[in-house]
Amino acid sequence: MPEQSNDYRVVVFGAGGVGKSSLVLRFVKGTFRDTYIPTVEDTYRQVISCDKSVCTLQITDTTGSHQFPAMQRLSISKGHAFVLVFSVTSRQSLEELGPIHQLIAQIKGGVDGVPVMLVGNKCDETQREVDAREAQAVAQAWKCAFMETSAKLDHNVQELFQQLLTLETRRDVRLGVDGKRAGQPRRTDRVKGKCALM
Ligand code: GDP
Ligand code: MG
Repeated sequence: MPEQSNDYRVVVFGAGGVGKSSLVLRFVKGTFRDTYIPTVEDTYRQVISCDKSVCTLQITDTTGSHQFPAMQRLSISKGHAFVLVFSVTSRQSLEELGPIHQLIAQIKGGVDGVPVMLVGNKCDETQREVDAREAQAVAQAWKCAFMETSAKLDHNVQELFQQLLTLETRRDVRLGVDGKRAGQPRRTDRVKGKCALM
């Protein structure tokens, strides 16, 4: 019988400055900062429920496109699920995800059954270069899910990780343990309607 790892590994990719660290910190700690601190590579852990038991959700916040190619390949081969983040204020940041998506498909032998979420972050910003319809079309071509988020306003951040886990078909993985919600308690959703809800 194939050994099933007791970790569920999620890897967050995306160009520098799109808000990868902000999304992860918002999810894990419930905090946000306006200053930009480049990330080396950090992994955050929390206990989630996994089939009838528990396992560790490991979220790896990468340095984005500046990650060494060998490290990128290793993160992909070890990862179970992937979050591909761009900023809605930068078309280039969406374009930079193409090669990463291709590499995931190549290393995993296709994307069927691999949970991948395309994420348009900074949806609170008014200076947009990518609208939700366009990103949705990219997600359709990549056969992955799509969501817009704002780490700044805490919009769709819990939902992003929650939905990503529902895409996993090999195991029943969910946030929280014994039906309790993990992460930070949600505040009232002040920005509902401001970002496209997919
Ligand atoms: P990373 O390089 O992808 O990890 O990006 P960071 O998380 O460090 O964020 C880069 C910059 O974007 C920082 O100045 C953040 O404060 C800002 N930022 C991150 N998320 C959002 C967001 O949802 N909305 C806005 N307006 N700014 C954000
Ligand atoms: Mg970072």
